Amino acid sequence: MLMDLCELSPSYVRSIAPYQPGKPISELAREMGLDERTIVKLASNENPRGIGPRTRAAIEAALGDIARYPDGNGFELKQALAKRYGVDMGSIVLGNGSNDVLELVALAFLGPGRAAVFSQHCFAVYPLATQARGARSIVVPAKNYGHDLDAMAKATADEETTVAWIANPNNPTGTFARHEEVEAFLKRVPERVLVVLDEAYNEYLPPELRGDSARLLKRHPNLVITRTFSKAYGLAGLRVGYALAHPSVADVMNRVRQPFNVNSIALAAATAALDDMEFVARSYAENLQGLRNLEEGARGLGLGYIPSHGNFITIRVAVGGKSAPEIYKKLLKRGVIVRPVGGGYGLNEHLRVTVGTAAENERFLGALAASLKE
Ligand SMILES: *Cc1c(COP(=O)(O)O)cnc(C)c1O
Repeated sequence: MLMDLCELSPSYVRSIAPYQPGKPISELAREMGLDERTIVKLASNENPRGIGPRTRAAIEAALGDIARYPDGNGFELKQALAKRYGVDMGSIVLGNGSNDVLELVALAFLGPGRAAVFSQHCFAVYPLATQARGARSIVVPAKNYGHDLDAMAKATADEETTVAWIANPNNPTGTFARHEEVEAFLKRVPERVLVVLDEAYNEYLPPELRGDSARLLKRHPNLVITRTFSKAYGLAGLRVGYALAHPSVADVMNRVRQPFNVNSIALAAATAALDDMEFVARSYAENLQGLRNLEEGARGLGLGYIPSHGNFITIRVAVGGKSAPEIYKKLLKRGVIVRPVGGGYGLNEHLRVTVGTAAENERFLGALAASLKE
């Protein structure tokens, strides 16, 4: 009986491979009988610095109001974002994490008989969101692990294509396309194709690479920029992100959004965090230092890695006859959680490691050295 019911679900839904999140600290503690406090998690690109005191104060102040529904239009956060990026409030769509906003794009613009273009080794949510809508995936082979924007532009000529997903920088490869390359891509892609430019790691770019993509919205009404408070702003657990888009695109996305998709604490925290430029600046500086330490550590162990523009680095650990899953398990035994990137990501010899605090990075490198020798 239950089997029959499940068959009512479209086959494209039933064949979705579930998203594999980073292993939670509590789960590893249970499985290995470890003390949670001794575990280092470098698996989900979270900010090791936590949150700043101003954001914490805003969260505490918001607690008094949680019996009420949040502002479904997120007025204050939208106002702050509009000012920051020089766009109208009508150009902003808020989401329960930027993941939610990506789903809204899929919900509003994909479906059976349509197609989406994305790159090999891209963020896992693009194939998932595409498939969940019954749309066809057009996967473009990567170039040096990054997006081959030339080939992607050509692929959008397929007349069923309505969405092109681009992560810049990309997760899990950390590869980056310069502002001029993105602009050239936008000029080549047909206007009927919505280009989703996912800038989850934008705040980790050096200032000279942080192009003003919001400015591109004026010339390209088919552009959707997504950003998040989960990474450099340290609010992954609260779930808040946003899209900047042409007002009519934003309007369509807002129609399929749950009326209260961003909770009141997340709204208050994000509004405060957006203002705390110093916190983000320090997160950037500490990340850069940590990234250099991890690169140096990998080189010291004779390992290759993909040069990264994010708060993580993807290291080729399958050497000396050991596989990446083996090294992953050996690290877990030592209380260090990183992220496997085989499977759907297609990086079978690599592991992705989030940049942690100086102490966490050192702990990881020590555990990695021991795991390679063992
Ligand atoms: C982390 C990440 C996101 C954002 O996730 P949310 O927590 O849902 O905002 C979006 N895109 C990429 C490429 C990411 O790595």
